[in-house]
Amino acid sequence: MTDLVTWLRTQLDGDHEPGTVAAAHRAILEMHRDDGLGWCTSCGDMTLDDHDRAPVETPCDTLRALASAYAGRPGYNPGWAL
Ligand SMILES: [Zn+2]
Repeated sequence: MTDLVTWLRTQLDGDHEPGTVAAAHRAILEMHRDDGLGWCTSCGDMTLDDHDRAPVETPCDTLRALASAYAGRPGYNPGWAL
């Protein structure tokens, strides 16, 4: 099964979106990468000391929300919905 990030990159590379929209969505993808351990590099609740973050699994809600913009396209997995 295709993972959300791979599928979303394919949608953005498909030239269906205006260039500025695709560029903004690629930037969001870049900010919300997998850190290699399955956690989002951007998301996480701040703790009281403001240095530690509670890890958030990928794909995070930000990427799920982004993918929902393309939910009508083939290959979208309903399991990615928020
Ligand atoms: Zn994230």
